[in-house]
Amino acid sequence: MDHFLYRDGALFAEDVPISEIAAAVGTPFYVYSTATLQRHFKLFDDALEGTDHLVCYAMKAASNQAILKTLAQVGAGMDVVSGGEYMRAKAAGVPGDKIVFSGVGKTADEIRTALTGGIRQFNVESEPEMEVINAVAQELGVIAPITVRVNPDVDAKTHAKIATGKSENKFGIPISRASEVYARAASLPGLEVIGIDVHIGSQLTDLAPFELAYNKVADLTAQLRAEGHNIRRLDLGGGLGIPYTRSNEAPPLPVEYGAMVKKTLGHLGCEIEIEPGRLIAGNAGLMVSKVIYVKSGEGRDFLIIDGAMNDLIRPAMYEAHHDIIAVQEPEAGVEPQPYDIVGPVCESGDTFAKQRNMPPLQSGDLIAFRSAGAYGAVMSSEYNTRPLIPEVLVNGDQFAVIRERPSFDEIINRDTIPTWL
Ligand SMILES: *Cc1c(COP(=O)(O)O)cnc(C)c1O
Repeated sequence: MDHFLYRDGALFAEDVPISEIAAAVGTPFYVYSTATLQRHFKLFDDALEGTDHLVCYAMKAASNQAILKTLAQVGAGMDVVSGGEYMRAKAAGVPGDKIVFSGVGKTADEIRTALTGGIRQFNVESEPEMEVINAVAQELGVIAPITVRVNPDVDAKTHAKIATGKSENKFGIPISRASEVYARAASLPGLEVIGIDVHIGSQLTDLAPFELAYNKVADLTAQLRAEGHNIRRLDLGGGLGIPYTRSNEAPPLPVEYGAMVKKTLGHLGCEIEIEPGRLIAGNAGLMVSKVIYVKSGEGRDFLIIDGAMNDLIRPAMYEAHHDIIAVQEPEAGVEPQPYDIVGPVCESGDTFAKQRNMPPLQSGDLIAFRSAGAYGAVMSSEYNTRPLIPEVLVNGDQFAVIRERPSFDEIINRDTIPTWL
């Protein structure tokens, strides 16, 4: 459930009409709902009730400061995958002991930043990285808490670009080598081994791959404990999928996921950490765009809109589907008609949908892409010198611009001219 609903024929974000935001900030823009963000966080938090746990929002999904503060306010920790994300989390007021550092290529500088500012744990992805964390920790005279990310070799049955838990993927260490790697970690004086980490992919629509992986983590916990390691925290990653289409069968709910976690791992007495990103932010955001032209082609009509692949790359990059709705609710009985919905960028890949049924639309009409809150704004670029589009946060009947659209001067002045020109 989200808070983007029609009222008297007009689409609202909570208590604010979308058309009012469009008039104030111009199109295209992203808009997020505070109530939806917090509700999604709470679904996970409640799902793990009764176990010692922390929900660390995977902020790569949507990392605006205002979104981080909104989630931190209700108790979220953060999962970061770069030094920049670490800085963002700190800037939003998240304490270091609620920040988890994931990612396959942490540099010595990033590790130093996190060890200096405080960190809950590093999720170590390789042996060379483990050696560097140890070296930096020793140089700073601190001990770095770590888990090792194991690759359980399970098929997440999701899009190839977001599957991470098969042995051919670049992530983690093979679970078969865990014993050896943990022994090495335990021998390094700058490290403290505290647990195990696993993350098998994103947009999973079935609990079975999670359950397979978590059972392997349960076995590994017993084995590593027997080998003398004090395994007390299990980081289970993110990855629970969201419904991108209203018609499709629904992915499992957080409460079902939580029950499965308790069933597979509850007996171990470990603190549970999860890192959901998409499920928290995905359906908490829309991208709103305006129809520039309706163009009649041969056998098909195109809606040429002012949003493009640089603003929302998921359809071009992952063949992703987004439900697209008219901001003005179609009147009952209006016959929908098929459109190809495209942006103005000079690439055929700049196509959001083909032959999508929409109410008849005209130049100037507003449309909204649903489920655009995660991996939307954060993956946008200024390709074609199209300014990054604004982000807006709604809270009840208030809204605020949380990232402004840069001016052309700001964009152009980021370039510098060498002296010889
Ligand atoms: C991307 C990522 C997540 C979040 O995945 P979602 O599918 O957005 O929930 C969590 N943990 C790690 C390590 C990731 O790389």
